[in-house]
Amino acid sequence: MVYDNNNIFAKILRGELPCIKVFEDDRTLAFMDIMPQADGHVLIIPKEPAVTLLDLSEEGAVAAIRTTRRIAIAVKKALGVEGIHVAQLNGAAAGQTVPHIHFHVIPHAAGTVLRMHAAERADENSLKAMAERIKACLD
Ligand code: AMP
Repeated sequence: MVYDNNNIFAKILRGELPCIKVFEDDRTLAFMDIMPQADGHVLIIPKEPAVTLLDLSEEGAVAAIRTTRRIAIAVKKALGVEGIHVAQLNGAAAGQTVPHIHFHVIPHAAGTVLRMHAAERADENSLKAMAERIKACLD
């Protein structure tokens, strides 16, 4: 799929738009979702320009899932929830709204319902505080 260099996550990767960073290494970046489906919702993106998982190199996929797993462990520890929801949408038909591949890590407490996808913007200070809690739980 043709990659749009001006998508939101490409701009975040270039530092042209801000993000609330949780983790970064040479291949991946993890940051808070600004419209979280639950408190502690983190996005993980490979730095490689790829629209979907199907466009991503095998090395990029390995790096992305490694970081996703690491973030999921930290989110579970930070939030103390029973479940962690990992989601990854490929193509607008599947509900993908930002055309740069990303993984969602969403804490899911027992008996709760996740909020609507990309619906309501969270308070910036709360997101920053949550990022600090998750960072403190990274191994
Ligand atoms: P998807 O629909 O799977 O493509 O998910 C895109 C996600 O990106 C949604 O959960 C949005 O809330 C989130 N999002 C959109 N813009 C930003 C942004 N500037 N910073 C952080 N998250 C964003």
